[in-house]
Amino acid sequence: MKKLVLALALAGALGVHAETLKTDVVVIGSGGAGLSSAVTTHDLGNQVIVLEKMGIIGGNTNRAEGGINAAETQQQKEAGIPDTVDQFFSDTMKGGHDINDARLVRVVTTKAKDSVAWLTSLGADLKTVGRAGGAKFNRAHRPSDGSAVGPEIMKTLWKAVKDRNIEVRRNSQAVEILKNKKGAVVGVKVKGKDGKVYTIESKAVVLATGGFGANNAMVTKYKPSLKGYATTNHAGATGDGITLALKAGASLVDMDQIQAHPTATPDGVLISESVRGDGAILVNSQGKRFTNELLTRDVVSNNELKQPGRFAWIVWDEPVTKTAKLIQEYIHMGLAVTGNTYEELAQKMNVPADALVATMKRYSELQAKGKDEDFGRADMPQALKTAPFYAVKVQPAVHHTMGGVHIDTKAEVIDTKGQPIPGLFAAGEVTGGVHGGNRLGGNAQADIVTFGRISGQSADAYIKGLTK
Ligand code: ADP
Repeated sequence: MKKLVLALALAGALGVHAETLKTDVVVIGSGGAGLSSAVTTHDLGNQVIVLEKMGIIGGNTNRAEGGINAAETQQQKEAGIPDTVDQFFSDTMKGGHDINDARLVRVVTTKAKDSVAWLTSLGADLKTVGRAGGAKFNRAHRPSDGSAVGPEIMKTLWKAVKDRNIEVRRNSQAVEILKNKKGAVVGVKVKGKDGKVYTIESKAVVLATGGFGANNAMVTKYKPSLKGYATTNHAGATGDGITLALKAGASLVDMDQIQAHPTATPDGVLISESVRGDGAILVNSQGKRFTNELLTRDVVSNNELKQPGRFAWIVWDEPVTKTAKLIQEYIHMGLAVTGNTYEELAQKMNVPADALVATMKRYSELQAKGKDEDFGRADMPQALKTAPFYAVKVQPAVHHTMGGVHIDTKAEVIDTKGQPIPGLFAAGEVTGGVHGGNRLGGNAQADIVTFGRISGQSADAYIKGLTK
């Protein structure tokens, strides 16, 4: 009795919680990657605990707006879109400046169609197929009412988690990955809501902690030019997974590859790429176009930073608004200025009215011709001449951290000697290599769900191997 009291007193003094839990798999992070992993490995017969450090689930996945890219899907076939996995692969490599890990890209581009079918089987509405930047064909699958894809994916995965009674511990931050003497992962240390640290013993751990876009110190460490940038990320995107993985002996790749999204409001609210895809254009503070709006994010961001004041306006008309609920929400949120004429809009934007009117007239003419002689934009779905007109002030903000934990095609985490760390898997934005030097819109969701599922399958295969 004396001994127990002493042990508890000691544990209390050290801030250590006496509780030790046991499970087969611990999944760290409750975004799209984490929940895809948890549902998959649960369905293969494993007991799972999901840890989420924030009070809410979903991380950056909640904020994903555009779509989930996939080629050769049922939806594309029905719409007569002649896309192929090979085209998806080459668009992704080209978009990533060819520094992507081609083996990982092959996996995502081949299996994304299964991810879309899997989400659909779980109840997701991914019926509409739209265009995102850098894609040769329409392959961004999204809800049929034009609402954002991330909440649809989270809603679907959360229902699957609830239906299966998978345990999700919120306000629970993984603070250390535990290994045995042989170097195999055997659990995690967790800091609970009360600040006390306890242990969960497990046979495998999946890191699905997302990126580090909201940690400007970490961002600046790897890319000093982004010092002081706003971010579109949720507050929990602080790169814990990078710190945890490094301590567990993992190697990292492409850490300096950090993407700025060209259309964030000064407060960091993301205006989805799909608004441009659906027809909007960009003009500068002089009311003039300055770029092909559908170029990759890095190029459009750089072009924007060359404009006076380093910002732009994204401009669209009523028919564009009608294409998506998401766009209507931006208007309801009060992000846009509005005008019944371009003169009126120009006044509210504080740009020269004659210049804006001339820019919009010229664009309508080019759209009618079907050829953008000024900037080479391939797809001009709208003439932008039907009032009311809308504009939102935008600038580049840190959006996606392409680099991260080094994984192989089985989502095994690779150590500094090039060997898998037994029992440690990773998926989603915490990993590096899939997106290379630039992530295409719609590819994050393809990556997180596909590698989320693979990490769940690999954790299962690893556990089954342990008992052989
Ligand atoms: P992905 O798109 O890769 O799934 P998300 O950003 O959507 O990434 O989700 C990652 C989740 O992981 C976020 O909800 C984040 O709060 C959570 N997270 C990050 N670090 C930790 C940690 N140390 N412990 C538990 N959860 C974490």
